[in-house]
Amino acid sequence: MDSYTVLYGVIGDPIRHSKSPVMLNRAFREAGINGAYAAFHVTPDKLGEAIAGIRALGFRGLNVTIPHKIEVMKHLDDIHPGAKAAGAVNTIVNEGGRLIGYNTDGIGYVRSLKEEAEPNLAGRRIVVLGAGGASRGILWALAQENPAKLMLANRTEEKARELAGAFASEFEIEPVAWSDLREACRGADVVINTTSVGMSPNADETPIDPTWLKPGAVASDLIYNPLKTKFVREAEAGGCRGHGGLGMFIYQGAYAFEYWTGQSAPVGVMREAVMASFN
Ligand code: NAP
Repeated sequence: MDSYTVLYGVIGDPIRHSKSPVMLNRAFREAGINGAYAAFHVTPDKLGEAIAGIRALGFRGLNVTIPHKIEVMKHLDDIHPGAKAAGAVNTIVNEGGRLIGYNTDGIGYVRSLKEEAEPNLAGRRIVVLGAGGASRGILWALAQENPAKLMLANRTEEKARELAGAFASEFEIEPVAWSDLREACRGADVVINTTSVGMSPNADETPIDPTWLKPGAVASDLIYNPLKTKFVREAEAGGCRGHGGLGMFIYQGAYAFEYWTGQSAPVGVMREAVMASFN
């Protein structure tokens, strides 16, 4: 670091578990960029001051994580349409003093799905399990790929109907009752778990019976702790193609890096850095 080092960071509460500093500092080093990225523990009552600090110190970029992704929006100068649709911001770009909010979670997930499991989502039948915070941005990003059908099921069924209704003017999402999932999954090319079921320490749980998926279909999970969930493992045993959640984390960071620097992200070393920090 020297007097020209450009600053970046992530804010959240809690934050010390974050792998973003390890991943993005490795990316800056690999790309030969004089940047530094740190994690900042910001509590909700200090959010406005933190954003004012970013402006005053001239940070080029910031990632935003739980619990600030929605609340931060009111402190920004502009919000990208994808972040508006997702209803949350996880990446801020400082364009000469104007703070612009983006959401790279949904598009990061879809880039990971295409790179690692199913390159062509157009014309596919996709079932999304879960209608929580992560689901919204993923549904928007999936819809940009022109799937044949996008179906959404949630344990609390009203929430799935509400979310489908919120997107109704832009694209069609078919709400599916949880009790009808077996049939929906049998006809699906991709089934995505966006619920928290199967996450450590409850790693022996699955959101649905993995044998409902047809052989050759993609079983995808947002969870990356464990790296491969029981849902993905058992679907693979039945002939499905498995896809875990680590790629979503890597690619949401890759998009942030690309928005900040204008260079393509060194995804391979970013993944290596995260994997090494797990070990
Ligand atoms: P969230 O807003 O709390 O939503 C949780 C979802 O899980 C809701 O749809 C909820 O259904 C459902 N759910 C919880 N317990 C359930 C159960 N026993 N049976 C069926 N459904 C259940 O959480 P989120 O922020 O969307 O995150 C969801 C998951 O994605 C988490 O595991 C998180 O770690 C993961 N994630 C990964 C990444 C990544 O980079 N890979 C990024 C973001 C999130 P109800 O509405 O009925 O409660």
